[in-house]
Amino acid sequence: MKKYYIGVDVGGTSAKFGLYAEQGSEGNVEQKWSVPTTGKDASDVLLGKLADSIKEKCVEYNIDMSQVAGVGIGIPGPVDDKGVVLNCANLNFGIVPVKDIMKKLTGVDNVAVGNDANVAALGEMWKGGARGYTDIVMVTLGTGVGGGIVVDGKIHVGSAGAAAEIGHITVEPNETESCGCGCHGCLEQYASATGVVRLAKKEINDHPESVLFSKGDSLSAKDIFDAAKSGDEYACKIVERSVRYLGIALSNIASVCDPQLFLIGGGVAAAGNIIIEGAKKYYDEYSLKALKNKEIVLAELGNDAGMLGCIRLAGAE
Ligand SMILES: [Zn+2]
Repeated sequence: MKKYYIGVDVGGTSAKFGLYAEQGSEGNVEQKWSVPTTGKDASDVLLGKLADSIKEKCVEYNIDMSQVAGVGIGIPGPVDDKGVVLNCANLNFGIVPVKDIMKKLTGVDNVAVGNDANVAALGEMWKGGARGYTDIVMVTLGTGVGGGIVVDGKIHVGSAGAAAEIGHITVEPNETESCGCGCHGCLEQYASATGVVRLAKKEINDHPESVLFSKGDSLSAKDIFDAAKSGDEYACKIVERSVRYLGIALSNIASVCDPQLFLIGGGVAAAGNIIIEGAKKYYDEYSLKALKNKEIVLAELGNDAGMLGCIRLAGAE
């Protein structure tokens, strides 16, 4: 009989579901769907919605709940190793035992819960850009900067569920502006989409010759990377600064956990090689000899990484 795993990647605007069917050693995602979220629902309301959606889809696809071998859930906040979410501003959650609640609501005994950026790293290792590896670090460059560390095939959660907060590695102690976390000089202030735009806007008035000058408030990270690719000097300077900080952060990470490979994902990573090549250059400049020349590659799964990682977290092979 077919076994099923369900992955749910929960975000502030939607929860993405994947239904994974396993038979023998074969398996694939048979269905995907999503449910809107508000980021404001009380935890029991949101978790109730997720459980109802799982049960409804199982009826629709003729799956008995006893065939569901596991449910994996990704949450955009810190999660400890017991599946308890420890305050998640993105979802308006305080301390919520998501694993125990979802066990009760779904009737599925095997429920696993992880941080969304961590499970995305696991997804990339299982089905994406880090297939075949067991020790990887993924950095997600989006609106913010997230990360995931996988050691020996398992997510490194940390004692407070907040390991791999790579976006808040200090890369510039002399920064005067504050990061969203309250500190200053965090990687996120330079390498996220908002960070790159922040950097560019700072001195844009001194650079009327740049194509970025006329963009005004609509200036986006994509504009900056596109301009750099076509040789705009000011844009190149901004990108160089951004990837330098990224390279510094990666070299610090390598000194701590020496992964086999780094994956770079998230919306900003769509800029592609300009980020990879820059990060490699500065990574090697700042790394110990024994750690130089590591593979730094683009993530491959895009928005599905989290959902697939949840399926894997629940135990799918
Ligand atoms: Zn920060």
